[in-house]
Amino acid sequence: MAGVRLEGVSKVFGNTTAVARTDLEIKDGEFLVLVGPSGCGKSTTLRMIAGLETPTEGDIYIGERKVTHLEPKDRDIAMVFQNYALYPHMKVFDNMAFGLRLRKLPKKEIEARVKEAAEILGIAHLLDRYPKQLSGGQRQRVALGRAIVRHPQVFLMDEPLSNLDAKLRVQTRAELIKLHQRLETTVIYVTHDQTEAMTMGTRIVVMKDGVVQQVGTPREIYNNPGNIFVAGFIGSPPMNFIKGTLEKTNGKWLFKAQGITLTLLATDMATSPNKDVILGIRPESLSIVNGENSKNECISCEVEVVENIGSETIIHARTPGKEEVVIKASGFEKAPQIGAVIKVKASQGNLHLFDGQSGTCVK
Ligand code: ATP
Repeated sequence: MAGVRLEGVSKVFGNTTAVARTDLEIKDGEFLVLVGPSGCGKSTTLRMIAGLETPTEGDIYIGERKVTHLEPKDRDIAMVFQNYALYPHMKVFDNMAFGLRLRKLPKKEIEARVKEAAEILGIAHLLDRYPKQLSGGQRQRVALGRAIVRHPQVFLMDEPLSNLDAKLRVQTRAELIKLHQRLETTVIYVTHDQTEAMTMGTRIVVMKDGVVQQVGTPREIYNNPGNIFVAGFIGSPPMNFIKGTLEKTNGKWLFKAQGITLTLLATDMATSPNKDVILGIRPESLSIVNGENSKNECISCEVEVVENIGSETIIHARTPGKEEVVIKASGFEKAPQIGAVIKVKASQGNLHLFDGQSGTCVK
């Protein structure tokens, strides 16, 4: 096992900077997820670690070894891709053994490794089948098996679950987490799916336009997004944003937007008064208040759509300034009528404030 380090790594294709000067330290045994929208540079980053692309500048280390210019086969890594092409004319056993035979491992060792991996993945009973006799999920496990038998120092995975249907994806996600707990090998995993990132990563790297936006544990990124992009990308439904201004009166900070005045309890603000700001509130942090509680510090909004999905209700409403606010409530209880004007509130600890121009978090 080994950690991986990127030092000032960039990749430029013609006019496109796919990855801009990136420093990243992936710890030994960590499950690190690179996440971001299409084209943000996550696959290129992974491919440079794999040796399938050469960095335009910077260096890559696996363990203490500088691997920037080493061939993929000399890096002691194993890759699992979205298209886990298995050899159709080979049985599962031979598909898994293929790479080891190429490396001329003794027959006994190959058998032991394939059996061990097949046990771990629950596919020991499938070793005699051909790929076409397997389900999509089973094929994906064979592809994982092919990587596991190599006993690599690092697993590199690029959207390995995206060809599976939704149910199987959730199931395989849990299996991958268990697999990582068991093998304790470093995993670098690429996905555009924030739920996969949140559930699988011991740490997450959020990327946009080739630039790392934030690195942290799922909890850090969810609770303290460093900018408005990260805030909007992580979390489902996404965070609500309301444009307004920040004012200071009698030593107190106020957020003001059309029809909204909120007194902020925070005293330290990384900005100055009378600035354009954006208030961020997660749908699950908002609750509907009524009666006496609704007098102060609430946002009044008109309900437009109510979606009941059994375990929760998603309410879409509009503020007096015509901005959409989504509220996530549990169960079917207290679902308001369409057209009703409701008052919603979030506790101070769940309010986020971003600079109106730069999008950087100011509180
Ligand atoms: P996706 O989720 O769509 O795979 P990604 O975040 O993995 O996206 P990359 O595949 O790393 O993004 O691509 C980053 C940028 O680099 C994109 O603008 C892409 O068009 C460009 N790019 C990637 N590979 C090449 C290449 N071989 N030649 C030219 N441009 C490329």
